[in-house]
Amino acid sequence: MIEIKGIAKNYKTKGKIIPALKELSLSIKKGEIFGFLGPNGAGKTTTIKIMVDLIRADRGEVLINGISSLNPRSRESVGFLPEHPAYFDFLTGRELLRFAGRMHNAYDSKREEKLLKTFELLDVADRQIRGYSKGMIQRLGFVVATVHDPDILILDEPMSGLDPTGRFILKKRIKELKDEGKTIFFSSHIIPDVEELCDRVGIIDKGELISLMDRRKMQDLTVRGFKIIYRDKGNIQEKIVDKNKLVSELEILKRGMEILNIEPVKRSLEEVFIEIVSKQV
Ligand code: ADP
Ligand code: MG
Repeated sequence: MIEIKGIAKNYKTKGKIIPALKELSLSIKKGEIFGFLGPNGAGKTTTIKIMVDLIRADRGEVLINGISSLNPRSRESVGFLPEHPAYFDFLTGRELLRFAGRMHNAYDSKREEKLLKTFELLDVADRQIRGYSKGMIQRLGFVVATVHDPDILILDEPMSGLDPTGRFILKKRIKELKDEGKTIFFSSHIIPDVEELCDRVGIIDKGELISLMDRRKMQDLTVRGFKIIYRDKGNIQEKIVDKNKLVSELEILKRGMEILNIEPVKRSLEEVFIEIVSKQV
């Protein structure tokens, strides 16, 4: 559905060359949620901008449904959420949606109402966007991206700037879109968001794809160990054990203690990187 073939990009500013992407290749399958995970400056936004032709790659190409990203027709069935959405802020949210819907020749007032409701924007829909909070703009941005019911969604850090409710609504909507058969590519630097939603994850660092894995493998990689909470003669204690020692440790503890809870101890993104680099996952 989306094929990224050997794209490379150097930025040139004030005579300096900043390598942002070095030969990146990826295929995204129809109907999957693909998470593009990496720290700040890894090259995620650069990749996404090339995918939607906001900037041009120095080398390589992107095909969407077999059509080159240089051809605007490749975006007919694409919804795009930029990293920092910025809209005509004198419009109201509703006016912007109407504008976006008509641009795609897909204006539908019922759908507009439903989307505004889902994203809890009905109360502010008739206010100018300039008065919106960051989270409201982010939610509106997602609605704009989906107004024409696209088959493919390309989202650059869609969860950023959202409060817990906003994140919950967005994640729920992304899962529903997957159930409707849509293909979703999104970037993030937050492991739990990627882990929860994605069928597959690509990890990018310094302009290179350093790992590609399915969700199960990702979850395995991000768990460092487990915290066992138990009662020992009336005192509540806790102990952190390595993930491959959980079973043997539990067998020992179960003899005299009451096990109250077991929870995973997660690695940070930095730790995951070290693990990947050291073990060539
Ligand atoms: P990410 O989205 O993963 O945070 P970016 O793709 O935005 O990363 O940036 C990748 C690298 O390219 C960074 O080193 C960043 O500073 C640099 N970069 C991005 N945009 C520009 C630009 N317009 N001019 C110069 N350097 C840029
Ligand atoms: Mg970015």
